[in-house]
Order: sequence, then C-alpha cells, then structure tokens
Amino acid sequence: MPTTVNAYAAPSATEPLIATTIERRDTGENDVLIAIRYAGICHSDIHLVRGDWGPVTYPQVVGHEIAGEVVEVGSAVTKFAVGDRVGVGCMVNSCRECENCLAGMENYCLKGNTQTYSSVDRDGTITQGGYSTHVVVDQDFVLRIPEAIPYEAAAPLLCAGITTYSPLAHWNAGPGKKVAVVGLGGLGHLAVKIAAAKGAEVTVLSQSLSKQADGLAFGAKDYYATSDPATFTELANTFDLIINTVSSADLDLNAYLSLLRLDGTLVNVGAPAQPLPVSVFALFGNRRSFAGSGIGSIAETQEMLDFCAEHGVAPEIEVIGAEQINDAYERVLRSDVRYRFVIDAKTF
Ligand code: NAP
Ligand code: ZN
Ligand code: ZN
Repeated sequence: MPTTVNAYAAPSATEPLIATTIERRDTGENDVLIAIRYAGICHSDIHLVRGDWGPVTYPQVVGHEIAGEVVEVGSAVTKFAVGDRVGVGCMVNSCRECENCLAGMENYCLKGNTQTYSSVDRDGTITQGGYSTHVVVDQDFVLRIPEAIPYEAAAPLLCAGITTYSPLAHWNAGPGKKVAVVGLGGLGHLAVKIAAAKGAEVTVLSQSLSKQADGLAFGAKDYYATSDPATFTELANTFDLIINTVSSADLDLNAYLSLLRLDGTLVNVGAPAQPLPVSVFALFGNRRSFAGSGIGSIAETQEMLDFCAEHGVAPEIEVIGAEQINDAYERVLRSDVRYRFVIDAKTF
C-alpha cells in the first residue's frame, strides 16, 4: 500500500505552490524510506515549475536537495540502516548498463538518469521531489551525510555543492590556479567556498559590489562588479577556469570568455531557458574552451560531502517554513538570496 504524505506542489506554471498530499510507493526490497528533515530551494525548482525548460505534468512537487533520516529499509538493503543520516540529490536512478553508467557516471546516463522530480519513474509514475515529509529511494542513489554536517547544511550540498564541486575537480581547481565564479547565489557561494578550500585563487564576478564582504569572507581574494565595463579590461586573459552559475541568458558570454588565459575553460552550470550566443572568435584567442557540466555522480557526491566535512565547507542558509516558499522564489528571482533557502520539513 503506498503511503500518503504531506507535500507542497505547483498546481500549474503560473500559480503559487500549495499544500497537498502525494503517494509514496511501498519501500521495495532495494529501497530506503527517508523521513525528510530539510529540503533546499534550488533555482532549478523555479525554472521547472514555471515551465522554463518545457512542458510539465502538474501538480508537481519539486526539491532535489534532500536531507533526512532512514526510517525503514527494504529486505535486500545492505548500505543503510534505520537511523542513518542520509541525503538525496538530483537523481534517483539510471539505466545502470550504458557506457557512462558502467563508468560510474550515472549523471551522464545515455538513456537519461531518472531525476528526483518531473521524470518518468520505472513504474511509469512521475517522480515527486523533496518538498514533502518522506521519500522512497533506491539505496544506490542515497548518500551518507557525515556526522560533522548538520541536516540543514547538508541539503544544499546535494545539488549546489556537487554541481560546483564536480567541474572544480574535473578542471583541477587548486593551488596556482585562478578561478572566477560568476554569480554569487546558491551555486556561486558554494563554488567560492569549495574552490578556496581546494587552494585555488578565487575571484567573484557579481552584478554589483553589494555582496563583496560576504564573497571575501567565503574565501575569495578579489571581487568585481560586472556592471562596470572596466572589470573586463582589467581582468582580460586572467583566469584558468570560470564557473558561470547565472540562471539567465541575458549576459554577454563573449565578454566573459575574453577573461580566460591560455587554455582556460569557461564552464556553464547555469541553465537558462534561452541559448547562449558564443562567438568562435572569442574561443580562438588563448585556445579557450566553453564547456558544460551537469551535477555529479553518486560516488563524486559522496566524495564532495566528505570533502566538505573535512574542510568545514558549509552553505550559508536561511531556514524557512513551507508557507514562505512562494516568497522565497521571488527573492531568488531578484538575486536576493543569502545564499540558500532551506525548508524545514516539519512545516509541510
Ligand atoms: P541563484 O541562487 O539564483 O544564483 C544565480 C546568481 O546569478 C544570482 O544570485 C546572481 O548573482 C546571478 N544572476 C542572476 N541573474 C543574473 C543576470 N541577469 N545577469 C547576471 N547575473 C545574474 O541560482 P542557483 O540555485 O545558484 O542556480 C543557478 C543556475 O544553475 C540555475 O539556472 C539553475 O537551474 C542551474 N543549475 C544547474 C545545475 C547543473 O547541473 N548544471 C545544477 C543546479 C542548478 P549576483 O547577484 O552575484 O550577480
Ligand atoms: Zn538544483
Ligand atoms: Zn545509463
């Protein structure tokens, strides 16, 4: 018998999220049932419920930054026990047999991984995300939260943390490397903290200097306003790596590419609905690369959680009740987030 649980759902692309109930499947033999403690609000939740990325089946519960406690395990579960502190990120399954899955990179599953929300699940239902009290997830897609990380701080690491950790690791952010982070929001502030913890020299490129003191406190060495044209002349040919977290396509990408030094790479993790115009001439100079990166594998997500525990990296969070979700969305859209909203699941 599926269990009915409280949740907050979007009824349509244009209406506010509302309190509702959803059905969670029975705990299967490989599943764990998680009592959710906290769920982070990612900008992707807003893109998705508002239809930015295409049609959605409503009502839809979003949320893919989930932290909670195991309250039941299936008969074949070996990795987790009741009482364990666990997390769930952006994906809950993958095909497990394609080249990328076999290489341990389920996030790049060639058949498309099963996303935590708004994906067709194995049983044909649409997955419903973490803005709810409980979730049932296959043990292979569940992460272990280190003791040093409180539940509410763990939640944003499950998407914002891994999405920035993965490209920083892949493109070798570390001592001697100059890394720029564009946009000091949920992803951006964790990118700054993680890159600094890896030993890179970090610069924030923000729309204004209003968050400069924060950026420097998070570990950045420099902080520039992109509204000032002088920033682009002063920083030309400077960075080995630029992580672009901006959620809008309304940004002159070629100007940012001009800031890369020889063999530098600009990695887009921001996911705007509209295409970004790239001039090949901006890539010819300095043999520059323009790349993308999507979340991270399960193994790398565990590595990231352990890294954050070891290095004391934690997100700056504002804990809210479920009734504040719609206001929080408006604040995220106004770039007025400091720096991640996290919903207390007791309020669903
Ligand atoms: P967020 O908290 O809203 O942060 C985005 C930041 O971008 C803002 O705080 C703002 O920083 C800057 N910004 C916003 N609009 C801008 C504009 N028009 N021009 C210049 N800068 C602007 O969002 P988030 O949760 O970090 O997510 C960021 C993006 O990453 C979203 O598109 C999300 O869907 C995507 N995402 C992708 C992945 C992936 O796997 N690739 C995973 C998670 C999220 P300043 O005020 O400092 O300029
Ligand atoms: Zn996300
Ligand atoms: Zn696969």
